[in-house]
Amino acid sequence: MNDSSPKSDKIVKSDAEWKKQLTPEQYHVARKHGTERAFSGAYWNTKHSGLYTCICCGTPLFESGTKFDSGTGWPSFWAPVAEGAVALKEDRAFFMRRTEVLCARCDAHLGHVFPDGPDPTGQRYCMNSASLAFEPKKDDKK
Ligand SMILES: [Zn+2]
Repeated sequence: MNDSSPKSDKIVKSDAEWKKQLTPEQYHVARKHGTERAFSGAYWNTKHSGLYTCICCGTPLFESGTKFDSGTGWPSFWAPVAEGAVALKEDRAFFMRRTEVLCARCDAHLGHVFPDGPDPTGQRYCMNSASLAFEPKKDDKK
């Protein structure tokens, strides 16, 4: 086996289908590579424990344990929930060289990753709330 793609259960939908499923803001960010305004999203300041999943296909992407306050106004994580959960792609838009972060399963645009994050990875996954859904941890009751 030397198939380099870890997932064979790719989700492919038409623009019209995504548009129907998502809010205009979610569609703009996740399917049209948009960026929400800083401090405007639902999760930039969320500190509850739980799981962040893809707004488009529900794939688990990030855990609250890797979330940190980056001061940027976007939800920031130092690692995805699993290797292969997200796909990285070079992004040369706007004459900058950045690394785009996509959902590995449905190619939703999530945000960008920068090499100025905290330990232990030194990575900063700068995500858009609009591309994420949050599932609070169920066994969090006292
Ligand atoms: Zn997805």
